[in-house]
Amino acid sequence: MKHKFIDMHCDTISELYRRKIVGKPYSLFENDLDIDIKRLAAGGAYIQCFAMFAYLTKVDSAYAHAEALTDIYYEELEKYKDYIAPVFCLADIEKNEKVGKISALLTLEEGECCEGSTEKLKHFYDRGARMMNITWNFKNSLGHPNHIDVNNGSVSPDTENGLTEKGKEIVEYMCELGMTVDVSHSSDKSFYDVADIVKGPFVASHSNCRQLCGHTRNLTDDMIRVLADHGGVSGLNYCPAFIKDGHPDAITADDFADHVLHFIKVGGEDVVGLGSDYDGISSRRLQIKDPSYAPLLWETLVKRGLTEDQADKVFYKNVLRVLSDIIK
Ligand SMILES: [Zn+2]
Repeated sequence: MKHKFIDMHCDTISELYRRKIVGKPYSLFENDLDIDIKRLAAGGAYIQCFAMFAYLTKVDSAYAHAEALTDIYYEELEKYKDYIAPVFCLADIEKNEKVGKISALLTLEEGECCEGSTEKLKHFYDRGARMMNITWNFKNSLGHPNHIDVNNGSVSPDTENGLTEKGKEIVEYMCELGMTVDVSHSSDKSFYDVADIVKGPFVASHSNCRQLCGHTRNLTDDMIRVLADHGGVSGLNYCPAFIKDGHPDAITADDFADHVLHFIKVGGEDVVGLGSDYDGISSRRLQIKDPSYAPLLWETLVKRGLTEDQADKVFYKNVLRVLSDIIK
């Protein structure tokens, strides 16, 4: 049986762009990526967030790159408007559901897309962006991520360097506009700086529990508690490296459930949602290998002891609560 879900993060648009620039066919409706409309619908998708991502050292302008991705995003939504439609305000979510359409929510995964400018941030807001990461894995004009050693891929938490003054200004402006502040990829210090500024909820759109898997893309128990105190949510990331340390085998729905249960144990049943990171990760070893497998995850959560209402909280109610609080 299908259960509706909100997925806070995927990189599908970047993959479609990659195909477009080399002249290969691409389609959001049906493709060989992790996410397409067909499989979203088969799995029960309610809202899919689509990230506009810029790899800072590989693009000339993060702003221009995010613009190009946003163009593709709207071109695809227009082509398949019978099945999926964008969200600009809360009422759009309900409107889309009523007519049987999936809602699409635009997000920015690299604060530098607005190049430190409130005008550019407002520009993306006007184009539908309702969530933005402070950083990806590079330091930018807004703040610091956790360290990643480019030589061996190892990461260590940065508890010293957080938001810049510009970053603090942009976070305040995001709150004013009604944009969700996303601390996934942020340094530990940036996380706490955001928690100091944002009064209500914020999110870690695609991060797991560091206590279970020691990667610094994941949240410590203290961060989970702080996030819960703010009424915020962390989205379960399906990336094998963030679920299980150096584990070569299949990553099962039970492995996902371990993190969900830990989130609930530490921060309560309102603190966890979904943030698959599909098309930004390798899904090859995943039992929940694309959105059409979502019902199996819901059933696994219930098998592991969650009530049906708690499983629904993880699947969509918690994130919907946060969006309802922030988006106007
Ligand atoms: Zn990411």
